[in-house]
Amino acid sequence: MIELKEKISKEGRVIGSDILKVDSFVNHQIDVLLMDKIAEFFKPKFNDINKIVTIEASGIAVATSVSRVYNYVPVVFAKKTKSVLNINDVYTTKIFSFTKKTTFDCIIDKRFLKPTDKVLIVDDFLAEGNAAMGLVDLCKQAGAEVRGVAVVIEKGFQNGRKRLEAEGIKVVSAAIIKEFKNGHVILK
Ligand code: 5GP
Repeated sequence: MIELKEKISKEGRVIGSDILKVDSFVNHQIDVLLMDKIAEFFKPKFNDINKIVTIEASGIAVATSVSRVYNYVPVVFAKKTKSVLNINDVYTTKIFSFTKKTTFDCIIDKRFLKPTDKVLIVDDFLAEGNAAMGLVDLCKQAGAEVRGVAVVIEKGFQNGRKRLEAEGIKVVSAAIIKEFKNGHVILK
């Protein structure tokens, strides 16, 4: 998606060997028009969706844009929590955070995920796939069908896509990073 690629090239900052900072349009300040255009990019790639599932916090903005192009289907975001209080009311999974290097219990209330749901999983980044795989796990626990995973930025040199596709899950990214070279982003 050309506008996103231009934005990454102009405003993305490489941190260390494997983190891209895009806080001027995704992770702190949000470019809503760009998120809406990314949602339009996803629209023809997935059909028959009645729910969007994401994870707090950075997935929520793009997820709401994606909801709009699917006739305002509900957006459910998995919550990160230190301790699960009432396990009977929630689906729960453990997700290792690539950026925070720590594992969170992540929950979705059972009222918001049902066996009749056809889910599009949406997130800001795909790296090793831990967040997406955790969301797939929550959907599986609910008996919901995962129709695919849509991400804003995929780091193609990491294993997320491989792991998801091995589970038979379709993955679409609005931009794929091939590599970081001398502090610069090389896009596919
Ligand atoms: P994964 O679980 O696929 O390893 O990593 C995806 C999650 O970690 C996303 O939810 C995203 O918030 C965060 N993440 C992974 N890599 C990056 C990155 O390079 N930049 C930013 N800003 N977040 C990232």
